[in-house]
Amino acid sequence: MKRLVVLGAGESGMGTALLGKQKKYEVFVSDFGKIKETNKDVLTHLEIEWEENGHTEAKVLSADLVMKSPGIPDTAPIVQKLLEANILVISEIEFAAKFTEAVLVGITGSNGKTTTATLTHQLLKDGGLDVALGGNVGTSFAGLIAVKDTPHYVLELSSFQLDGIVEFRPHIAVLTNITPDHLDRYDHDFSKYIAAKFRIAMNQGPEDYFIYDADDAVISEALEHHSIRSQLLPFSVSKPLEQGAYIENDQLIITLQQKQHIMPINALGLQGQHNTKNAMAAATVATLLKIRKATIRESLSNFQGVEHRLEKVLKINNVMYVNDSKATNVNATFYALDSMETATVWIVGGVDKGNDYTSLLPLVNEKVKAIICLGVDNEKIIRQFSNVVDMMVETDSMHEAVQVAYRLAERGETVLLSPACASFDLFKNYEDRGRQFKEAVRHL
Ligand code: ADP
Repeated sequence: MKRLVVLGAGESGMGTALLGKQKKYEVFVSDFGKIKETNKDVLTHLEIEWEENGHTEAKVLSADLVMKSPGIPDTAPIVQKLLEANILVISEIEFAAKFTEAVLVGITGSNGKTTTATLTHQLLKDGGLDVALGGNVGTSFAGLIAVKDTPHYVLELSSFQLDGIVEFRPHIAVLTNITPDHLDRYDHDFSKYIAAKFRIAMNQGPEDYFIYDADDAVISEALEHHSIRSQLLPFSVSKPLEQGAYIENDQLIITLQQKQHIMPINALGLQGQHNTKNAMAAATVATLLKIRKATIRESLSNFQGVEHRLEKVLKINNVMYVNDSKATNVNATFYALDSMETATVWIVGGVDKGNDYTSLLPLVNEKVKAIICLGVDNEKIIRQFSNVVDMMVETDSMHEAVQVAYRLAERGETVLLSPACASFDLFKNYEDRGRQFKEAVRHL
């Protein structure tokens, strides 16, 4: 019996432990921190051995195979010891993929992963395929297989998950975009982060597909020195393409063997240029998997988006309140501001991950009438935007921020929470921040 050690007992660790047990591995789960009570109960019930609040080296280093959860960096001492001992350390998606013959659609990128993966899943489901959605969103890939294997999976993949693959090969890979993020985990070296994203295609062959944003300069540059064996299917909002998806006279066009008019872009359920890109990627996947055009069109126009991503909350006194709490970096906020069609009261701030706000200046100048800072340290935001926006207010709770926004916004305008920052100074996570925003708006 092979010994599988699982590092971390979160979503991917639990999924791996369950699947490993089913596949007759001797499983040991080891977590450096505390394990959630409900997870401990599940492990105990399944007779899977576990430990918390630290790793017992002898028990970990006796592994034949180790699954490392994506949150654990390679620099963790236990991982270093495993690597020194030449023990194979993989990610959950690598482990899970061994146990299915399904068609895999893998979606990665700096922004837009969840939206594109959710939309793609919807299109395939509406097209009648038996398909599951998971990975970095919802249930882990291993957890899905442990419950029921399906013939198709749409997987959201983070760069950390891709770091731990060896043979993982999606039949269709999507790369939404690349902007600097998580650089602390990549030695502050952008090229290492780019290389991690490109790993999604590293095991693909000529019968596979690689869908990517042709307008993204970082991707175009990187394509020149990453050899990709799969068929390239770019998408673009700015130029026509021989193969791939593009816009012509405000119509979404996909050209594979033949040119197909999918639909007018103003009929897409999700508006904004970034969402047009997400729709193009999803529609290309669906077309490759032979979903009918009429179904794609209907599904794209019905899709209402994912919580905390440019989510319309309420209209009060003709002011629209929009929750984009998931915008934890500048690029996501860029597209949020880009999609604003009215004057905007912008709630921004939190934990700055080394943000460069320069790209936002023209949009802020054009659309933002007031800035409400919501963070413990707002100095950088004030310094960056005080020349562009006259009205700036500092707040330190969501309740206060929303109250101030309510006072400042006038009929026909929009209040946008799009923080461009992480949430940990004032909130548990971005979901907590988004929920508090919605609560405060509903109480206005
Ligand atoms: P991820 O899963 O990669 O974090 P999400 O779909 O959760 O992506 O979206 C995160 C943030 O990025 C949201 O604020 C969303 O509005 C924005 N966003 C969505 N798609 C894109 C895109 N293609 N390019 C840039 N930003 C995007």
